[in-house]
Amino acid sequence: MSVSPVHCSAPLDAAHGKYPGHLAIPYSYNLGGWANLLVPICVIANGPGPTVLLMAGNHGDEYPGQVAIHHLWRQLEPSQVRGRLILMPTLSPPAASAGTRLWPLDGRNFNRCFPGDPAGSPSQVLAHFLSSVLFPLADVVIDLHTGGRSMNFVPCAHMHLVDNPAMFAATEAFLTEFCFLYTDVAGAGLLPTEAERQGKLVITTELGGGETVTASLHRLTQKGLGNVLRHIGVVDGAPAPRQAPARWVQSLDREDYRFAPVSGLFEATVDLGGAVGKGDVLGRIHDLEDPSREPALVIAPSAGLLIANRSPSMVAQGDCVAVIAHETNPYS
Ligand code: CA
Repeated sequence: MSVSPVHCSAPLDAAHGKYPGHLAIPYSYNLGGWANLLVPICVIANGPGPTVLLMAGNHGDEYPGQVAIHHLWRQLEPSQVRGRLILMPTLSPPAASAGTRLWPLDGRNFNRCFPGDPAGSPSQVLAHFLSSVLFPLADVVIDLHTGGRSMNFVPCAHMHLVDNPAMFAATEAFLTEFCFLYTDVAGAGLLPTEAERQGKLVITTELGGGETVTASLHRLTQKGLGNVLRHIGVVDGAPAPRQAPARWVQSLDREDYRFAPVSGLFEATVDLGGAVGKGDVLGRIHDLEDPSREPALVIAPSAGLLIANRSPSMVAQGDCVAVIAHETNPYS
């Protein structure tokens, strides 16, 4: 890959110590010809052990993971670390401060920018730096998500169906009731896909979503993340055992993902996490301009559990409005 224009002020190969810093991505705007976009990064290192790249804020409007990494950034000392932890609490700062999924600078979805382009727009340049510099350093790649403003999720750790028992165990170590196997129905270029391609142990989550973050979601995120870091062994201490076995569910068929057949006003008819039967109505889409018209129905193609649904009430044709998950056993 070509050389990155990104400058990192923290020593990525440090063996000991704590180094808060920034990545600087050069870009220009009308009042800043030699401007840099700063992305926070902190290296905490202490001798032999795994290197873990821990990230959140890939989508700007997803905050519990960003908060959890802020706590680690301030509180974690090298003496508590075995190996190296690279913290990136906010991968998409322009989107996080704007409260948006896409980067306001270049209109891009950062999680569709991989493996990136060193000569591209700022989000593509950052994706290229991750793919070509940070991922190769890491044994473990963690990317904390929620559904953002557009989707609600039953809080879960999730993963692609990758044939790696260590990844199942690490996913379970997040301690969420549900562990979720998903597939990509909305394009390529995802961060976890590139990390998997490079053979990394990848841990990702969908910790709620919608406009508000509850106190319990913050607690669940911070507790799960702390436990995963102990499970990996990069942070001192024994991981907690699960209170109950993980409930593995999967949405691996495209038909598990239900898209709005028309635009309009969406009425959910099943609560998040609820059981659904084959043929059940998951929601109705009302025509704002013609109340006499019968609403369009969104139907469950199979039985399962509503693992995710639409958050805003207004939907455009083609928006994902419901995801049906099915119980499974990834070990069989
Ligand atoms: Ca997300």
